[in-house]
Amino acid sequence: MRVTVDKEVCISCGMCVNTYPEIFKFNSDDKAEAPETELPKNLENAGHDAVDLCPVGAIVAE
Ligand code: SF4
Repeated sequence: MRVTVDKEVCISCGMCVNTYPEIFKFNSDDKAEAPETELPKNLENAGHDAVDLCPVGAIVAE
C-alpha cells in the first residue's frame, strides 16, 4: 500500500505530519509528502487513518 499527497490540495495544516511523522514530512514548499513509496505492513492502518484525518482530502491511499 502507498499513500500520496496531492500538493495542489494540501493546505499545510500539519495534521498528518504531526500525527504520523513516520509517514509524512513537509517538503521544501511546506506541502506534506509521504517519502516512502511502499508503506510497511505495520503502518497501513496509520495510512488509512491519515486519509480520514486530512481536512481537505489531499491524502490518497492505494
Ligand atoms: S493533513 Fe492534509 S492538508 Fe494537512 S498537511 Fe497533511 S496533506 Fe496537507
